[in-house]
Amino acid sequence: MTHYRLQIPSFNQYKFAWAELTQEATISKEFPQCPKCNRAMGQRYWLPPHDIILKQPKKVGDFVGGVIGTDLIVSQRFKDKYQESDMSGISKFIELNVVQMGTSKNTPYPIPKLFGAAVETVNTKVDYDKMGVSWFSKPKKNNCDLCCPGGGGDGGIYQTYEKVVLKQETLTQNDFFIPINFTGNIMVTERAKEFIDRNQFTNVQLTPDFDAKHDIFKVD
Ligand SMILES: [Zn+2]
Repeated sequence: MTHYRLQIPSFNQYKFAWAELTQEATISKEFPQCPKCNRAMGQRYWLPPHDIILKQPKKVGDFVGGVIGTDLIVSQRFKDKYQESDMSGISKFIELNVVQMGTSKNTPYPIPKLFGAAVETVNTKVDYDKMGVSWFSKPKKNNCDLCCPGGGGDGGIYQTYEKVVLKQETLTQNDFFIPINFTGNIMVTERAKEFIDRNQFTNVQLTPDFDAKHDIFKVD
């Protein structure tokens, strides 16, 4: 079964809005932790208020890119369709406050309703041995068998990979998920791809696992 890597095109797509945090944003010192070894994983928590600035705000897609403290930023339409569907893997939606559109305080564009969506990290693992990985820093021996290899520190940091290979025996029922040793990456099932295609959600890119290459020094 094919899975897909879900990515939001970065700001250089020049078509859709992307988001930035405000200068007052509060990021917690706490990280999510591996349930087995307690190692920090993924991104730190973003504390309220959940204010964002939308750049290039003329056209707002169903997905909004930007490095902020949530796995995804989605439109009201996405949230409604998701909640009406039988998709799984998004554990919560939080309403975001768009406090500025573009560079000026006065915007000619209507302010959209946007939500932060949290995607569950599951115990599904990727199999780095089969992904054609070159390591920027190699995994150490005797690392945690749940969150490693991968993920930084003792788990190592990959520089490039040629494709994504999921360990089949570790798959769960989730349609949207972050593999525990592949933090920062959202994977979806074929069912979720059909859901996204059928609803024609904009500003999202789905790459089949066998074709999902990556190089940390290149912007996708
Ligand atoms: Zn661990």
